[in-house]
Amino acid sequence: MKFNELGLKQEILTAIAEMGFETPSEIQAEVIPYLLNETGDVVGLAQTGTGKTAAFGLPILQTIDPNAKTTQALILSPTRELCVQIAGEVSKYAKNLPMHIVAVYGGEDIRKQLKEIDTTPQILVATPGRLIDLMERKKVHLENLNYLVLDEADEMLNMGFLDDINTILEKTPDTRRTLLFSATMPAEISKIAMNYMKEPVEISVGKKNEAAKNVEHYFVLTKQSTRYEVLKRLLDYYPDIYGIVFCRTRQETKDVAEKLMVDGYNADALHGDLSQAQRDSVMNKFRLRALQILVATDVAARGLDVNDLTHVIHYNLPDDRETYTHRSGRTGRVNKSGISIALVTPREKGAIKPIERAINHPFNQMEIPSGGMVCQKQLYYMVEKMQNLQPDKKIERFMPDVIELLKDMDRDDIIRRFIALQFNQLLEYYHNSTDLNASVQQEINSNKKRSSSDGKNRRGAYIEDDGFKKSRRQMRVADKGDTLRLKINRGKKDGFEPKRLLGLINDVTGDKSINIGDIDISPRFTFFDVDKKRVKQLLQAFAASPRAKGYIIGEVKGNR
Ligand code: ADP
Ligand code: MG
Repeated sequence: MKFNELGLKQEILTAIAEMGFETPSEIQAEVIPYLLNETGDVVGLAQTGTGKTAAFGLPILQTIDPNAKTTQALILSPTRELCVQIAGEVSKYAKNLPMHIVAVYGGEDIRKQLKEIDTTPQILVATPGRLIDLMERKKVHLENLNYLVLDEADEMLNMGFLDDINTILEKTPDTRRTLLFSATMPAEISKIAMNYMKEPVEISVGKKNEAAKNVEHYFVLTKQSTRYEVLKRLLDYYPDIYGIVFCRTRQETKDVAEKLMVDGYNADALHGDLSQAQRDSVMNKFRLRALQILVATDVAARGLDVNDLTHVIHYNLPDDRETYTHRSGRTGRVNKSGISIALVTPREKGAIKPIERAINHPFNQMEIPSGGMVCQKQLYYMVEKMQNLQPDKKIERFMPDVIELLKDMDRDDIIRRFIALQFNQLLEYYHNSTDLNASVQQEINSNKKRSSSDGKNRRGAYIEDDGFKKSRRQMRVADKGDTLRLKINRGKKDGFEPKRLLGLINDVTGDKSINIGDIDISPRFTFFDVDKKRVKQLLQAFAASPRAKGYIIGEVKGNR
């Protein structure tokens, strides 16, 4: 792709050639033609340094009228430095066009800026605060605005500009085209997009064309009667899931989605009985991640251009293998593996083998997370979220009073109570939760009794009770030749036992499919076998996870 294939004016092409640009960057190649040939709003997701300024700047220069002395494009940006940089960059692209481009930002004498905007700029680059100031002084007129760009939108939100942005957006004409650029897509941005953008297309680079799909395939065994219960358990176990739950029929899709919504999940349904407008609205919400869980039929999900899901869940397996491949191919992201989980009853388990052959990839059995594990996972998730949170500046003024009120409580007690506040409901729910693994096992056992000489049933021998233990089947699969011996710095003296080891590995890796076998516990160390292919994953998880703090794990040299 060359710049001159994008349909840009000669004046612009000359300017960018002089700047030494040869080929459009990825985001430019996608955004520029869209802005020139279509009319819709755009959410552009790309890291810094990928050329976003030209991606929106060039089409804006191409389409606004240099002879009309009105402000036709407004670019909002979080900082003074960025404003200056953007205005400078766009001015360079515009050097062969009669265009007045001005940057206004806080922290500098307003009089100089007032003078600059005395001649109405066609393109105004501004920080939100200063712009509002100028709007209140009636020095800026936005009624002829064709373009509104929110550049570095995530950064603007981090800096607390949300209210200002809303104020500004409300004062601009509905006919404007809104373009939002951001490196990340937090929920608040989805909200802006939903409130102020018209069915924006999401254009993100560095994700979608990733050819090598990195998908792990799992199945969980469930009873027919607990299928929904199991789904909920899985969703609870992955608090930051962004995924699709595939159902086989419209009715099932509706039922599952409705139940999830009633149960408080951020879910919605996509199926053929919806009107086009309803469908568009659901798809938009999901694309923008304002919706976490989409419950969909295969047909309805086909029109959905989203491929970077964290999870694909097959509430029921599809009839044909191509559909399975389609479904699971929607997960698997850059540098991160996607997870595909099929819910099957013992009776349906036979459907797995043919799929394994078709995709040339084995399935691992995943145990249904126990209530305890879900609570733990949610708790860690909450703590992590808390650590990454940027508290709103507005909280500051309440701080002295709150600190005064809490001054007699010690740190641990405060933490304990805040957790309880957030968590009581979940703990309550899971306190008496049934062991779903055990209940499916009972069913398998009773079936076995009924057809006592049926060897097939034994193949799936699956002995499980509390969700912390690995199934025996998995341990046997770990063939000696394919394992490595590892050791960890905990032993009998620390009260360590196999169950603790397996629980620890589950927690640290979040992955229950890693085969562990031959556990030996000495007074100070525990030795165990791990599937060779998974050793790296395990060691990396131990190196990275805060949950592995204090544990030292490593290979046993010279074998056993
Ligand atoms: P972003 O906004 O995505 O962080 P910028 O628009 O600031 O990125 O661009 C980063 C740098 O790359 C700038 O110096 C810009 O001049 C340069 N640049 C942009 N597009 C191209 C291109 N197609 N070829 C070469 N350099 C480019
Ligand atoms: Mg930029």
